[in-house]
Amino acid sequence: MTSDGVTYMTLLWRDNLTCHICERGLRDEDPFDVEHIVPKLRGRRGGGSDDLGNLALAHLSCNAAKGTKAISAYLSAKELP
Ligand SMILES: [Zn+2]
Repeated sequence: MTSDGVTYMTLLWRDNLTCHICERGLRDEDPFDVEHIVPKLRGRRGGGSDDLGNLALAHLSCNAAKGTKAISAYLSAKELP
């Protein structure tokens, strides 16, 4: 989550209102979050940064399902239909 309004708006435009986890569009009624592609590690160095390149839009439900895993680990573990 970021409180930086400029970063937030830039993300909305860059990601074209698309969830980077399920790749579906974010609609007005869908709660969404700004998510770290490389997870931030609390209290340790070496975690993901708050740079724009490490941020992406995601549905709240997708982000919650992914938990603290990296997106690549989550997607590879998830069974595809
Ligand atoms: Zn999603």
